[in-house]
Amino acid sequence: SIKGSHRSILANYDDKIHRKVMQEKQVESRMVAALNNKEFVVYFQPKIDLRTNKIVGAEALVRWKISEDNVIPPNEFIPIFEKNGFINQVDFYVYESVFAKMREWARQGHKMIPISVNISRAHISEKEFVTKMKNLINRYNIPPEMVELEITEGIFLSDKAPLIEVLNNLKKIGFHLSIDDFGSGYSSLNLLRHLKMDVLKLDKDFFDQDKISTKESIVLANVIKMSKELGMVVLSEGVETKEQAEYLASIGCDLAQGYYFARPMPVDEFEKFIYDLSNDR
Ligand code: C2E
Ligand code: MG
Ligand code: MG
Ligand code: MG
Repeated sequence: SIKGSHRSILANYDDKIHRKVMQEKQVESRMVAALNNKEFVVYFQPKIDLRTNKIVGAEALVRWKISEDNVIPPNEFIPIFEKNGFINQVDFYVYESVFAKMREWARQGHKMIPISVNISRAHISEKEFVTKMKNLINRYNIPPEMVELEITEGIFLSDKAPLIEVLNNLKKIGFHLSIDDFGSGYSSLNLLRHLKMDVLKLDKDFFDQDKISTKESIVLANVIKMSKELGMVVLSEGVETKEQAEYLASIGCDLAQGYYFARPMPVDEFEKFIYDLSNDR
């Protein structure tokens, strides 16, 4: 009956909330020990130039590696850490791991490639964030222009004045800035008038269909055109097929990231991927 099915939907809903709360509690009871045990590990996903098919950088993406065969994706813990504030410690652990690696690669004689890290909304309101970032790159002797800070489109929904100030200060130091997940929600076209961002990362929602419709391709091609006229490099996220890669290249998209080229990889695999195959020394 309708009544019966209604009740079971609600029960299901309660179950879901219960499971979520349980999961949240579990995450929170384990997170501090996990950080001390170095269970948070950084994966790297290459960024590819669509004209040359060469690697031009990579994005650092965190995972929670509980054991060899239990690796938890960020969507299952980052939102919880953003709520309880632990994101600060985890992110700075990620940033430090990345900068330490970059320094190590340079010491081994490799040419430095730009690496991007994800910035959480919580950092923007933290007074010391800009200074902390500056001190951290100085400690590892990393040129700021080798570091790209990815800020998701969603952050632009919050109070704009403090955000613009923080971004301008990061820019003044020399960090590169990108808008992440562009087109996944509220798009801040207006903000692009006030702020110089270096890279626009198109969300995979823009073209995840097998076949891109005429309307979609008009929007896509014009967003790319506009972004480039505003002086930004355009990168497409989530490129999974050859057809997508070729189509994006044909409408002027500069860079791509996605399973078609390479998945996010643990550091040793990434090192093999970029250094063993090339003669970059
Ligand atoms: P994001 O920054 O937009 O990262 C891109 C996501 O797309 C990654 O998911 C990546 O694994 C996935 N991806 C890459 N290529 C493809 C593809 O071809 N197809 C599909 N379907 N997906 C692809 P991941 O690693 O699970 O990360 C999810 C989100 O978690 C990230 O989205 C980012 O917002 C957040 N995140 C990851 N690492 C960190 C971190 O260290 N700090 C913070 N604050 N957030 C992070
Ligand atoms: Mg990102
Ligand atoms: Mg993204
Ligand atoms: Mg995304």
